[in-house]
Amino acid sequence: MQKLSNPQKTIEIIQKYGFDFQKKFGQNFLIDPHVLDKIIAASGITKEDFVLEIGPGIGTMTQYLAEAAREVTAVEIDRNLIPILEETLAGYDNVTVINQDVLKTDLAAIAQEKNGGKPIKVVANLPYYITTPIIMGLFESHVPLDSITVMVQKEVAQRMQAGPGTKDYGALSLAVQYYAEPYIAANVPPNCFIPRPNVGSAVIRLTRYQNPPVAVRDEKLLFSLIRASFNQRRKTLLNGLKNSSELSFTKEEILEALQKAGLPENVRGEALTLEQFAGLADALV
Ligand code: SAM
Repeated sequence: MQKLSNPQKTIEIIQKYGFDFQKKFGQNFLIDPHVLDKIIAASGITKEDFVLEIGPGIGTMTQYLAEAAREVTAVEIDRNLIPILEETLAGYDNVTVINQDVLKTDLAAIAQEKNGGKPIKVVANLPYYITTPIIMGLFESHVPLDSITVMVQKEVAQRMQAGPGTKDYGALSLAVQYYAEPYIAANVPPNCFIPRPNVGSAVIRLTRYQNPPVAVRDEKLLFSLIRASFNQRRKTLLNGLKNSSELSFTKEEILEALQKAGLPENVRGEALTLEQFAGLADALV
């Protein structure tokens, strides 16, 4: 099978099967070989690795992954793509396609079966409508992870990598950076896809920490604090926490904790580092 990574071959396959792009599944297929090379390089895959691909589409990136990795499992929700994948991946004996919603797939079981429970690499050109649930689901579940290398909307990549005091900094930055070290490997313009998305894209690699970079006594409380303080971004942290439906601390308790954590009364959540959020969570326990 010839590589799919060019517009002619992609259009040929789509026409042969009379395939209709489904907007609701976030279908934008890659047609640029340079971008595919960059994703494979950023992911650091070797012939030792098992790779989970989310949303193989017509198999464009799956072909590259199959050549770089020991074994690939690709989870695709759209059943109309399954016969196409059978043709485009026929030349590879190290690929398994599963026709399922990735959010309902037992990925830990796949990692156990295919990789003996050792950390896996996830690589994907993600459907943008579910980027955050997919990434946070991977981190919060018990899937053993080495890294996640994904194409996402450019703004989302910037939010994942942002630090305190910047406009992109928020709950997603802190949640991602609690679990992984982010690195934006490439910016990708809309003309690298069919159909063209109406946003810019970026490839980001999230390398999973073995242990979180901060120690905190109550992880759940840490995440509730983070969510509460960015829910009301323009308010002070004190007001954000006081008004949160998730938390039930009194004003006095919050003021005392802020003092204990060495933070001023009028501080805003967007100014706090992950370490300071962890310090505040510990002061509230
Ligand atoms: N990997 C292909 C490429 O790069 O050309 C296609 C990428 S396209 C942006 C996203 C893919 O994810 C589509 O094939 C879509 O059908 C699939 N998808 C969308 N939602 C999904 C879900 N919940 N579970 C699994 N796959 C999904």
